[in-house]
Amino acid sequence: MLKVYSHHDRFMVWQIKQWLEQNGIPCFVKNEFAIGAMGELSPFDVLPEVWLTDEGWLAKAQKLIKDFEHQPLQHSWLCERCQESNDGNFELCWQCGTPAEP
Ligand SMILES: [Zn+2]
Repeated sequence: MLKVYSHHDRFMVWQIKQWLEQNGIPCFVKNEFAIGAMGELSPFDVLPEVWLTDEGWLAKAQKLIKDFEHQPLQHSWLCERCQESNDGNFELCWQCGTPAEP
């Protein structure tokens, strides 16, 4: 088994997992609950991670992750007012309602 991705934003980790699975790569999430409830900042603890069950998929997974990160619409964004991170599908910050900067 091999770690292929980690991010302080649990939501991103789940999106990557889903994306890899959609492309036929078996994977799972570790440390999902390493970070407290939303709003609690403890980003320097263990990060949520995506792991491959078979390292043979590594090259393909890395390419897919790269592709994923170049899809601006699905990328999470940081609210410039409260610094909360939001799903790329949200047009307003879930926490304070500030619109996303284009
Ligand atoms: Zn905000």
